[in-house]
Amino acid sequence: MSIHVSLGDRSYPVHFQSLRTLPERMAERGLRPNDSSRCLLVSDENVAAHYRSPVTTALENAGWTVRPHIVAPGEASKSYEPLRAIYDEALRWGIDRGTPVVALGGGVVGDLAGFAAATLLRGLPLVQCPTSLLAQVDASVGGKTAVNHPTGKNLIGAFYQPHLVCADPDTLDTLPMREWTSGSAEMVKHALIGSPELLSFLEDHLVGVLARKDREAFTTAIERAVRIKAEVVAEDERESGRRAILNFGHTFAHAIEKVAGYGAFTHGEAVAVGMRAALHLSHRRHPEALNRDRLDAVVQAIPVEGDPGALNPGALFEAMQADKKNRGDTVRFVLLRSLGDAYLTGDVSEHELREAWRFACSEPHASRP
Ligand code: NAD
Repeated sequence: MSIHVSLGDRSYPVHFQSLRTLPERMAERGLRPNDSSRCLLVSDENVAAHYRSPVTTALENAGWTVRPHIVAPGEASKSYEPLRAIYDEALRWGIDRGTPVVALGGGVVGDLAGFAAATLLRGLPLVQCPTSLLAQVDASVGGKTAVNHPTGKNLIGAFYQPHLVCADPDTLDTLPMREWTSGSAEMVKHALIGSPELLSFLEDHLVGVLARKDREAFTTAIERAVRIKAEVVAEDERESGRRAILNFGHTFAHAIEKVAGYGAFTHGEAVAVGMRAALHLSHRRHPEALNRDRLDAVVQAIPVEGDPGALNPGALFEAMQADKKNRGDTVRFVLLRSLGDAYLTGDVSEHELREAWRFACSEPHASRP
């Protein structure tokens, strides 16, 4: 099963296949060991423990000379020193412009290795092999690469599309359950902003998908979610307009992460709470077109550890304002006109925000299965 991301001469396929087929998929995109036999494999310690060996073996059997570069797991690796370590290793090893960079891991590895690929020798071929649910449904597709700066997340980066994405659903078996939840929130988000059909599908298979028990259902849901992401990116590669709808729930989520302290909630947990607030704001404006409680039931089923209601709403609104200053514009919210029809607005009063926040914290999320 494959999906095509249509971006003119930067188009590429997203394969849902075993990583053992990676060398063939690379060859189909012109990445063969006769151009440059070197291949740089970037991963993190957790992912490498499971998948470094089979991926290296498959590449070596196809004639590649593989240099693994393993970083520490976690967001701290998306920063300058780990990036510089990749530059140092790659340049001392003697890469050339045909040397592919294979990013094997979650969104952290994808963003870090992606930015390294974008900048080394003015651009090396990039192969995304996402192993977390969040990376499979979201981060590996669309070409955003970045590292963080002490003043904020993702401030040093580039739009740089991969040559291909190879997402192996089997790698999700070893993903910690809380990370699974985090990715589920982004999958639900894609359904809300882009596909009433995916939302109905998720409603029908909600328990099996959230508990990672119904393999057929979650594989189908992942593929459909990627299709939505691919469509949005194809319309607006550089986020000059429509692509911003992928931030549904994120205005609140970024503030939640900041006020609670990074790591207290996973990004997906914060997005789940933020989507409830955004649903409330959307319903207030479009009560006829939107069945808030139906949609909220799906979001509320996403387990969230910790109590967002314990956060100070004043601090949250302040954090939203600070974020606005960083970006030099107004605080913007993505709202739904109806299911699958999202738009951007800056026109939300503090009274509405307080009301939406009360709704988001009104009933607890489901607990972990
Ligand atoms: P992550 O990369 O830190 O992975 C989460 C954890 O799961 C890590 O500990 C990792 O080692 C582990 N892991 C990943 N796959 C595993 C597997 N198959 N088996 C066992 N353990 C596994 O985090 P994430 O949630 O994947 O990604 C978050 C990052 O993605 C953030 O930095 C965010 O900014 C970025 N992001 C980027 C985009 C984009 O468009 N580029 C979109 C969304 C998020």
